[in-house]
Amino acid sequence: MFKKILIANRGEIALRIIHACRELGIETVAVHSTADAESLHVTYADEAICIGPPASVDSYLNISAIVSAAEITGAEAIHPGYGFLAENAHFAEVLAECNLAWIGPDAQTIRLMGDKAAARNTAREAGVPVLPGSKRSIASAHDAAELAGRVGYPVILKAAAGGGGRGMRIVTDSEALEAQLATAREEASKAFGDGTLYLEKYLVEPRHVEFQVVGDQHGDVMHLGERECSIQRRHQKLVEESPSPALTPELRDEMGTAAVRLAEHVGYHNAGTVEFLLDRDGSFYFMEMNTRIQVEHPVTEMVTGVDLIKLQLEVASGGRLDVPAGKTARGHAIECRINAEDPERFIPSPGRIETFHPPGGPGIRLDTHVYEDYVMPPYYDSLIAKLIAHGRDRAEAIERMARALEFFVVEGIQTSIPLHRRIMADRSFRSGDFSTRFMEGFSSRR
Ligand code: ADP
Repeated sequence: MFKKILIANRGEIALRIIHACRELGIETVAVHSTADAESLHVTYADEAICIGPPASVDSYLNISAIVSAAEITGAEAIHPGYGFLAENAHFAEVLAECNLAWIGPDAQTIRLMGDKAAARNTAREAGVPVLPGSKRSIASAHDAAELAGRVGYPVILKAAAGGGGRGMRIVTDSEALEAQLATAREEASKAFGDGTLYLEKYLVEPRHVEFQVVGDQHGDVMHLGERECSIQRRHQKLVEESPSPALTPELRDEMGTAAVRLAEHVGYHNAGTVEFLLDRDGSFYFMEMNTRIQVEHPVTEMVTGVDLIKLQLEVASGGRLDVPAGKTARGHAIECRINAEDPERFIPSPGRIETFHPPGGPGIRLDTHVYEDYVMPPYYDSLIAKLIAHGRDRAEAIERMARALEFFVVEGIQTSIPLHRRIMADRSFRSGDFSTRFMEGFSSRR
C-alpha cells in the first residue's frame, strides 16, 4: 500500500479522500490555490502546498505545479477526485513518466472513453446497446441532416468532449438542425476547447441509470449495483439514489452484466461508472463511461458497505478486488446535492456562511468541507455538501432525508436545501415513477 499520496483536488472530495487515507494509515498531501488556504482539506492533510492563484487553470489544472508538489513532498501516487484533471489522459501519462502512480484507470482507457463519439463504438464492439446515431463525429451540416433523417427526429447533439450537461442540444425537426448545430458547436468550443459534436436519437422520457464498476490490475472486474440519477436540472444531477426504483432483479442483472462486459473489453481497472438511458419499455442504451470516482458514489457505499475510495487506493497499489461476489445491497440510500445557489435563478451564491447547523441522527451522512464562518470562494463549483440518507427501504430513506433537510440550517448564503425539501415531498418522486424530465415545470407544480 502507498505510504503517502497527493490529492489533486479541493472541497468535499479532497476531504473524503483524506478520510480514507487516515483509516488506511496513508499520509496525505493537499494542494490548494491561494483562495483555499482556509479550506478543511488543507487543515486536515498531513502536508499542504499552495500551487497557484485562485483561477483553476493556474492551480488545480496546473499539471507542472501539481507534479512538483508531489516530487517535493515525496508522494508516491496522485488521487484526482472528480472534475479538474480526473479525466485528463495527458496528466495520467505525465505522472507515469515521473514515476508517480495514478489512482485511476490507464491513460489509454481514459482517452478512449473521453471521446464520447468513439466510446459509442467501443460499447457497440463490446456488445452493449447504444442509441441509433453517429459512428463518428459530425463532419458537416449535410452529414448531420442525412444522419438525423435516418435516425428520425427528435435527435440530440452532444459534445464529444462533453461533461456536466453542457454542449447538448435537442433538435425536434430538420428546419432547426443547422442553427442548433452552430449553437452546440459554439457552446462545446467554449466549455471544452473542442467543438466536435456527435448525434444520437433523443429519448423522450428515459431514466438515467448508471452502474458502478470496479476492477483490479489482475483482470477482475465486477459491478456494485446501480444509481438512479433521473432527478436533474439542465442535464445536471440533483438527487441520486440506490437502488433504482425502476429495476427488476432481472433487468439489474442484464444491465450490470453489460456494464461489466464493457469494462472488461477495455481492460478497465479502478472505479468507474457506466451510464445508461433506460427507456419506458425496459430497453437500455449506453450513454457514456466516466473513468473516475463520481460525486454520487456515497449512495453505493451506503447500500453495499464498500468504501469506494479505500477500494480505489487498494487496487491502484496493486491489490486484488476483495469484495464478496454477489454481495447484495442492504436498504436504500438517497443523496441530495446541496449547492450554494439562488433557488429562483439557479445561479451561484458564494460568500460567508454565517450559521451552519448540520443534521444528524440515524442513517444520516454529510460529506462537506464547509463550516460556520467559511467563506465560499466564487471561483469553483457551487457544491457545499452532499447529504445522504440511508434507510431499510426507500420510504424510510425518504423520511430520513426529509427530516434531515428540515433540520439543516445554513445562513448567510442561499442554498438548494428548500428545493430538496420540496422534491422529497413531491408525489411523483415518492411514487418512484419519474423520468429525466421530472424537474420540468417543477416550480409551478404543487
Ligand atoms: P454529460 O457527460 O454532460 O453529463 P451525458 O451524456 O451523461 O452528458 O448526458 C446527461 C443527461 O442528458 C442524461 O442524464 C440525460 O438526462 C440527457 N441525455 C443525454 N443523451 C440523451 C438522449 N439521447 N436522450 C434523452 N436524454 C439524453
